[in-house]
Amino acid sequence: MGGVSNVPLIKDGKRLDGRKPDELRDVRIEAGVLERADGSAYLEWGSNKVLAAVYGPQEVLPKHLSDPTKAVLTYRYNMAPFSVDDRKRPGPDRRSVEISKISAEALEKVVLLEQFPNTMIKVFVEVLQAEAGTRCAALTAASVALADAGIPMRDLVVACAAGKINDTVVLDLGKSEDNFGQADVPIAIVPHTGEIVLMQMDGDLTRDEYTQALDLAVKGSMQVYELQKDALKRRYGGVVDEQ
Ligand code: ADP
Repeated sequence: MGGVSNVPLIKDGKRLDGRKPDELRDVRIEAGVLERADGSAYLEWGSNKVLAAVYGPQEVLPKHLSDPTKAVLTYRYNMAPFSVDDRKRPGPDRRSVEISKISAEALEKVVLLEQFPNTMIKVFVEVLQAEAGTRCAALTAASVALADAGIPMRDLVVACAAGKINDTVVLDLGKSEDNFGQADVPIAIVPHTGEIVLMQMDGDLTRDEYTQALDLAVKGSMQVYELQKDALKRRYGGVVDEQ
């Protein structure tokens, strides 16, 4: 990532996997896949496979974390050892701690935490297979799992990345694009308000390219938002509450 790479990633207007610059990988979401969690979701995004589970609102442990004004939301992003080419060392690392922190902060913007003082809502996301874009896949699945748990939310949170490869702004970078591309900008939004609740950037973009990337990432997010709602409708039937 970053700099100018000589690796050809676009040929005749198509990317290596055949996608157009503004095309998402295939995304598939299923809500309510685990019996023992209060809410859950399974999501495939290209070759990424993630499982999200939600518990709560429940008793706060350890007790000193308890907040009398709102629920405490925790988020654990974890990559399975078998999720990447070289076996990943099990357990948290700097990257997973950072992703967990910013993802919790994104969800805190939509979950009605103030309705559940002195409780804890725990979100766990396991990345079973990783192929670039896992933080977006994880957060998108977590949001569906929270809704599946019946936890009141202002809206879902949906995440998607855009970036730059071979001097072209593209949507939703795949693995080789992430490795040899010039920039990657994952974002998460609250679809109804357009509020951006997560944004990171790896690599360099001009101001114009940044605007294009942001525009693409928002459009991609809105497509994934439809799939989140479809997953919840398939599970619960009827129309998902549109505020
Ligand atoms: P994201 O998955 O959100 O795009 P990164 O940009 O940090 O996050 O990682 C891009 C990809 O690099 C991951 O999806 C995964 O395929 C791979 N990767 C990340 N961390 C590791 C690791 N510790 N070992 C092997 N591959 C990794």
